[in-house]
Amino acid sequence: MISLPTRRTSLRGQTYEGERLLLSAAVATKLYRCPSCREPLGIGADHIFVRYLDADPPWDHEHWHTRCVSERLLRTFATVHEVPAPKRPRPQRRSRR
Ligand SMILES: [Zn+2]
Repeated sequence: MISLPTRRTSLRGQTYEGERLLLSAAVATKLYRCPSCREPLGIGADHIFVRYLDADPPWDHEHWHTRCVSERLLRTFATVHEVPAPKRPRPQRRSRR
């Protein structure tokens, strides 16, 4: 059983299709819509920031409900492991080289 991201720990996952994702804990600074359930994610809500490491902006990130990540996204991972959380996740910056 893999634990969800925290402020100190992110998750690196690879799907069965070979897509590489980085999941980080985040707090919503504006209103988002979860791409999984299509329900809104309110300002101030704890949620999961999902970065697609192989995609280009603006399609390289999404904001998911924590429960949607644990119930749906984690199941698509062939491999997953914990990594240190980025200091400050930003949608427009790529943290990988
Ligand atoms: Zn959701």
